[in-house]
Amino acid sequence: MAASVPVAWTRVTAGQTSFSVFPKPIQKSPQDDREYRIIKLDNGLQAMLIHDAKADKAAASLDVAVGHLYDPDDMPGLAHFCEHLLFMYLSKNNGSSNAFTGTSNTNYYFNVSTTALYGALSRFSGFFHSPLFAPSCTARELNAVDSEHKRNHQSDMWRIFQTNKHLSKDGHPWRKFGTGHKESLSKVGRELKAKGTLNSNLVMKSADGSLAPTPNDSRAPSPSPSVNSTSSEMDGDGGVVGRETRRRLVEWWSNEYCAGRMRLCVVGNESLDELAAMVAKLFSPIPNRGREPLHMIPDHPFGPNEMGTLVSVHTIMAFHALEISFPIPYLPPYWRHKPASFLAHFIGHEGPGSLHSYLKGKGWITDLSSGPQNLARGFAMFKVTLRMTPQGFENYETIMEHVFNYISLLRSSKFPAWYQRERSQISATRFRFAEKRRPDDYAVWVTEHMTWPVPPDLVISAPQLVEEWDENDAEHGGEKEMRAFLDLLSIERSRAVLMAKAEEHERVRGKDVVWEKEPWYGTPYRVERLSVEIVQKARGPNNLSELFLPGPNEFIPTNLEVEKRDVETPAKRPQLVRQTPLSSLWHKKDDQFWVPRARVVIDIRSPLANSSARSIVMTRLFADLVTDSLTEFSYDADLAGLAYTFSPQSLGLYVMLHGYNDKLHVLTKDILTRARRLEIKPERLEVMKDQAKREWENHLLGAPYRLSNYYYRFLLAARDWSVEELIAEVASITPEELRKYITTLLSKVHMNMLVIGNMYKDEACGLAKMAEDIIQASPIPADEVQELSLVLPPGSNHTWATVVPNKNEANSSLTKRRVTASLLAHILSEPAFNVLRTREQLGYIVSAGHWQVNGGGQSGIGFVIQSERTQELFEHKTSLQKQWREAPKNLNEEMNRYWNHIEYGFLDFHRRFIEADLIEGVTKEEVLELFSSHVDPSSKERSKLSIHLKSQKPRPPKISIAAMEAFAQKVAEKGYTVEEQAWRDALVGDGETALDKFGQYWRDTLLAQAATVPPEVAQGLTAEVPVLMKQCPAVDDGADEATLGKDVIFIQEPNAFRASLAVNERPQPMVEWGDLPTSKY
Ligand SMILES: [Zn+2]
Repeated sequence: MAASVPVAWTRVTAGQTSFSVFPKPIQKSPQDDREYRIIKLDNGLQAMLIHDAKADKAAASLDVAVGHLYDPDDMPGLAHFCEHLLFMYLSKNNGSSNAFTGTSNTNYYFNVSTTALYGALSRFSGFFHSPLFAPSCTARELNAVDSEHKRNHQSDMWRIFQTNKHLSKDGHPWRKFGTGHKESLSKVGRELKAKGTLNSNLVMKSADGSLAPTPNDSRAPSPSPSVNSTSSEMDGDGGVVGRETRRRLVEWWSNEYCAGRMRLCVVGNESLDELAAMVAKLFSPIPNRGREPLHMIPDHPFGPNEMGTLVSVHTIMAFHALEISFPIPYLPPYWRHKPASFLAHFIGHEGPGSLHSYLKGKGWITDLSSGPQNLARGFAMFKVTLRMTPQGFENYETIMEHVFNYISLLRSSKFPAWYQRERSQISATRFRFAEKRRPDDYAVWVTEHMTWPVPPDLVISAPQLVEEWDENDAEHGGEKEMRAFLDLLSIERSRAVLMAKAEEHERVRGKDVVWEKEPWYGTPYRVERLSVEIVQKARGPNNLSELFLPGPNEFIPTNLEVEKRDVETPAKRPQLVRQTPLSSLWHKKDDQFWVPRARVVIDIRSPLANSSARSIVMTRLFADLVTDSLTEFSYDADLAGLAYTFSPQSLGLYVMLHGYNDKLHVLTKDILTRARRLEIKPERLEVMKDQAKREWENHLLGAPYRLSNYYYRFLLAARDWSVEELIAEVASITPEELRKYITTLLSKVHMNMLVIGNMYKDEACGLAKMAEDIIQASPIPADEVQELSLVLPPGSNHTWATVVPNKNEANSSLTKRRVTASLLAHILSEPAFNVLRTREQLGYIVSAGHWQVNGGGQSGIGFVIQSERTQELFEHKTSLQKQWREAPKNLNEEMNRYWNHIEYGFLDFHRRFIEADLIEGVTKEEVLELFSSHVDPSSKERSKLSIHLKSQKPRPPKISIAAMEAFAQKVAEKGYTVEEQAWRDALVGDGETALDKFGQYWRDTLLAQAATVPPEVAQGLTAEVPVLMKQCPAVDDGADEATLGKDVIFIQEPNAFRASLAVNERPQPMVEWGDLPTSKY
């Protein structure tokens, strides 16, 4: 790499603060109308300022170059816990915020209305120069971290990630457990407490006195800590143990959070000078602690013990996968030619001659991906990941061999320079016409890339562009780098991970295998050395003539012209430009983004599609087979920035395409033709059937909150079939039956189409006509096939209770759907309950919002877990208004807005703007009236449907209030001081209490008085608990019904319940636009 010449930064003073400015212009796409500037504060913090005159949302991201690999060894999860306790939620002013903890960085970000940027930024900077680490939030955030871990616990992605980490070099930081949980974060405190070295009466203020009180009084006050007890972990500050965890957190933070390690990006509509002054003033107070700005971990976690191994892992979900990993160096220094991605381009190719094509043809895989990945700052991995069929799994060794055959082919191949030129061209086009992203996403992207070793003026362009090889420079021209990476992809340096369910491993590998357990998730795994035979085979040259390198990509766009005009106000809706008995076409020529791209949706509806569970299954198999048959052909299109999906929907099929408009019609034509003339290969059908079945089975094993949402949609859809019904049909479908079905499915249809972007009206009409000509169906009336919903009768209260199918899933879910027919509910309820989403103690997934049953005129307020924060309602009124008036950021957002109205047939494209005006006049009384008529349990009009999914894991035992009272009395009798109010506050809350919570409280309380009452007395009391529990048994034994009230009707059989409900009326257009000269054909 050529060394970059250092550039002198310019000194600037704004107000009282001085800072440095990078003098060169920042390289950006000619299409990009934003302005950029990089500044460096005297404390070492670097900031990218982005002025966007058109922005209606501002955003910021701050990246700290410290992540969970920097956790203290005895406190796994501390960096993550720090992220939680440092950053409190900002939700006002149409804003949202979040943060994440990575391996070597932690990123905090938010977006907010442009007018509110200064205030939000000032609070945000406060988190970094004067964090509260509010002691009273310790217990709550420990619980939040703990819940996150519980949520991940049954996720294969997390389980395998941690197993991979666990199986690295001894003592390497990569092995750490980054999420952490309550136990990992409290263990040290507990041990110290047991030794009696923690002073239970000490109330922590700060660790080193460096925590000044926050200068911003605008931050929401934190709940004050309980004064009754200083020793219980139930307290806000987590008792002595929680205070110790927090002390360690502050100590760690004081060491690691150094301004020199921070990178900031701010996007706003203020000028660059204003943004610079703002940032300099607000962020200069962050201390520089003299830490290394970008600490690198150059040592790779894979050593000789890890390489050359095969790891088998049990999964929860039913799938078969093989992942081959090769240790490679940290990638950012290779930013010019991106050699590892060059190799990924070939190994992951899906065109003719590819590894994918070959293995798919054998019926062994369904998916192959390949690419490099930075694991942390300092080391990376190259991965080849294959999703296998059951037969593929049986032949995993041969699959591995073929992966290495392909790598051998690469090694022996010559690479003419046009390969790299093609990549360079594609990246340049993509960069040139990149559409804007959400400003907070963009800010995060920028701060994460500011750590790359590139000249500051290239920080935006370098990560996105690929330079051509310089054929005259053999040393640095690019090819040599690529060859060096290719040498690293040898079998001796690889580790293969084989993933499948326990019974599948048993089926293929036999029963007498000893499994070990990963310590944090308990994932069973097994490690063995790769066999000598496979190593021998993999080393040899490639002998498969089916494998060869791809040819030039015909889909690279050549016409990228955009005719830009001055448009005062962009149109707010598409127009109906063509209507025939067979199809309706809505169209809008782009008038705001000016990129050579377009989006096309073709919604093909057929009365046959949802006539039975069997037809639903066959529609899906049809769509899967079409997609499958197109892979080889469409892969180049995909690389060149043209994407499509051909997918089933409950009423038929969706064809969606997007990308450079130049060759979009070619792709559309080919997809439709392929669909019309699909040749069903029996062996491919078998693969698709197996895949569909597994997906449905896995769906039932999914997270309970997702399942409960699925059940409620199912219960209220006029025509739908349960996943179990679909699974029952799939096995018996034959190629012959499917062939007939497809012919009938496509014989009578109606098509709704939407075309937006850089395509003129006549081009869109040409596309619609082409679609009609290819499909060649007879028409049905446009409103014949519509999705209809069921209506809950007013004043009803139903509950459907079932069990969570995954027996190891400890979480239950309670979804309550309260139906109101009022649009007003939507206007008002959404902001009110969105605040519940984060950080409530009720559960880790708490959500609420407006919902709508597909195709129904019905709407309502849905929430998972309930709360009472109605006062927030009004504060969010203007925020909601801003949200509705926000301009779409890119073509995709714009399309989704329109499509929704077309899909459901309401066509009221202006609704969001009308409602934004309407909300102005809504009074508090109206909201309360709505609440009392439709949500309040005492209302006669209210209709409610609850879905209770109960975990099959035994619930923790509970203790009744009577037993607790009797116990407290016995404690007092033995001479202890009992604070009546304190134990009630801590334990009674919502009635009966979990036994372990009860035990913990009293253990702490009695221990605190060990000086006055001898410990033997406490032991005697413990023995009383089971006796009292028998005398005064708890009512709640895992039965939610106890709290449900008398009028609840339990749904016995879902289909019978559905049959008892009335079907909603067909949706009708709310607006007649009169776009066409004659209203009908
Ligand atoms: Zn978290």
